[in-house]
Amino acid sequence: MGFQSEEPAKPVHVICTGVEPGRQDPYLPGSHYFPKLKDDPMSKDSAPLALIIEDEPAQMALMSYNLKQGGFKLAEAVTGEEGLLLAEELLPDIIVLDWMLPEVSGIEICRQLKKHSHTKEIPIIMLTARGEEADRIRGLDTGADDYMTKPYSINELIARTRSILRRTRPSSVGETMSYAGLVLDSEQHRVTRNDEPLKLGPTEFRLLSALIEKPTRVWSRDLLLDRVWGRDFDVDTRTVDVHIGRLRKVLHQKGQPDPIRTVRGFGYSLDVEG
Ligand code: CA
Repeated sequence: MGFQSEEPAKPVHVICTGVEPGRQDPYLPGSHYFPKLKDDPMSKDSAPLALIIEDEPAQMALMSYNLKQGGFKLAEAVTGEEGLLLAEELLPDIIVLDWMLPEVSGIEICRQLKKHSHTKEIPIIMLTARGEEADRIRGLDTGADDYMTKPYSINELIARTRSILRRTRPSSVGETMSYAGLVLDSEQHRVTRNDEPLKLGPTEFRLLSALIEKPTRVWSRDLLLDRVWGRDFDVDTRTVDVHIGRLRKVLHQKGQPDPIRTVRGFGYSLDVEG
C-alpha cells in the first residue's frame, strides 16, 4: 500500500428550498449550495425541512425532486455518519432513512438518532428493500415512526411524511392549532384569543407555535432555543425569558388568564391548569 495523498471524496451537502412554479431550481448536481438556513430564523416557519439519508443517487434524486415539489426544504446525506451530523446540526422536521447504507446501517443510525436528546423527537421514516415482517418489526422497534418497503410509491411517501408532520410539527405543514381560546394559524401567520386578533412579533409567533403544538408539555429553555432560534444561533437562554415575557404580555391582555406556566429553573409550558 502506497502513501495516499488524496483525501476521499467529500460527500456533497445540498439544501434547497422548495421550488416555486416558474422559478429555477437552485439545486445543481454536485454543487455545494448551502444557504444560510440558520441565519434566518424565519426560515423555520416557511417550509418543513426533510433530511434524506440515502446512498443511491437515483433514489435520492427521485425523493429530493418530489419532496421539493411537495413544499419541503431538503438536506441530503449519502452516508449514515453524515446523516447523523446533519440531523444534529439542522434538526430537521423529518428524516427519511434508508436501511441499506454503506458502513453503518440505517437501523444503527435510527438507534443513535433516537438515543440522543436533541434528535430523539425527530420522526423517522425507514426505507428498505426488505419486506419481511420480522424486519419491519425490528425497524419499528428501533424507534422509526413509519416504514416503507422498496419499491414504494413516491406519492405515498409524501402523504405519509405530511401525515406524520401533521401530528408532530403541525405548524410546519400550515395547520391551525388551538388551545384554551388561543388559535394560531401558521399559514396565515395569525393568532387570535377568543376571536380577538393578537399582534405578535416574529420570534413570539415562533415561540407560541412551539408551545401550542404540545400544550402542557414543559419545554426547557435549551429546547426552545433550538426550536425557535436554531442551534447555530449564538443566543443566551435569558433571551428565551425576554421573549416569553413579551409573548406573555400580549396573551395576557384584556384581563385574560395567563396561559404560560413558568417552571422555575427549567422552562415553560402552555398550560392554563398549572
Ligand atoms: Ca441504499
